[in-house]
Amino acid sequence: MKTSERLDRLPTYLFAEIERKIAEKKAAGVDVISLGIGDPDMPTPQLVIDALAAGAADPGTHQYPSNRGRAEYRDAFAAFYRRRFGVELDPETEIVPALGAKECVFNLNLAFLDPGTVALAADPGYPVYTGGPLIAGADSVLMPLVPELGFVPDLDAIDADARERARLMFLNYPNNPTGAVAPDGFFERVVEFARANDILVVHDASYTETTFDGYVAPSFLETPGAKEVGVEIFSLSKGYNMTGWRTAAIVGNADAVNAYWKLKTNIDSGMFEAVQLAAVAALSQEGDRIAREMSAVYARRRDLVVDALRAIGVDVRSPKGTIYVWAPVPEGHSSASYCEHVLEESGVVVSPGGAYGPNGEGFFRISLTMDDDRLAEAMERLRSSLGG
Ligand SMILES: *Cc1c(COP(=O)(O)O)cnc(C)c1O
Repeated sequence: MKTSERLDRLPTYLFAEIERKIAEKKAAGVDVISLGIGDPDMPTPQLVIDALAAGAADPGTHQYPSNRGRAEYRDAFAAFYRRRFGVELDPETEIVPALGAKECVFNLNLAFLDPGTVALAADPGYPVYTGGPLIAGADSVLMPLVPELGFVPDLDAIDADARERARLMFLNYPNNPTGAVAPDGFFERVVEFARANDILVVHDASYTETTFDGYVAPSFLETPGAKEVGVEIFSLSKGYNMTGWRTAAIVGNADAVNAYWKLKTNIDSGMFEAVQLAAVAALSQEGDRIAREMSAVYARRRDLVVDALRAIGVDVRSPKGTIYVWAPVPEGHSSASYCEHVLEESGVVVSPGGAYGPNGEGFFRISLTMDDDRLAEAMERLRSSLGG
């Protein structure tokens, strides 16, 4: 059997490798605490489950959905964007459902890239920002995110060749894996850059509803001119404990949304309509309240982890959003060797920063998706096996 060259070029997906290691340890009888994967541990809110059940019982949801999505779904996104961000969206032309942000990021590469063109991708960043261009037969050019610049790319450092070839730019704030938020003025500079270089900005808004200390994350589309050069992917996965539901939408520039829709009509047959009705429930004001409650839980866990790390001498920033803590590995370790060491010594799984791109090297990521007691135990194990 001969697989395609595009498949051969792909690296193993990061978490597939982590899952293999966990299975190995568990088989050896180790009580593994996995803080590797960012998958909310708390259940989906009851109002969403109830809406799914009611929707599933209605035969009107049982046939092929359309790739445009139900009017209720698009209207719910429009109302949410108006209420939450003050952004006006036309439900007819500026909103299309996506089967999760991952699918959407991937397919945008197929919709916009040709061989010889590139996507500008944050480094470190979500792996599909680089895997997607590869599968599309194109390339990615990495934009380093470094602590000195607050983990936002230095747009002036993007060279003329990359500007010329780039068709897409992937950004994500609040940011996975660094936990950084977009500083004031950054999105304005992005709009200017995109306009000057004819690039579609794709803002991955996976964590706008998961923020702490009174910080409220903006939509990229709040920025003047953003809709002329960009789209935003709003995922319900993290903010509403819905990773299993595969529910998101692409919103913003009508031409880009239409290009995505055109591609998708050839790939999948849309989102189960009962799931769309469930998402409508999540996007309600009651959903806003639940998302804030979830943020309070993560804020508490963040404090627990940051305090524990600082107590063993790790110089870590306390993030204002996301479900991650991004911390430097000790002197003398690579991120991979440190994560192996932590797993061996304490049975705790954390992700190596290098797996998110070359500029993730020197860091590790702790996911806060574990109940407080287990998280506290994980920190205690780190302290006793690694402190001092
Ligand atoms: C989790 C995550 C995704 C995937 O979201 P889905 O909607 O579940 O596909 C995409 N981007 C980033 C930055 C993420 O952290």
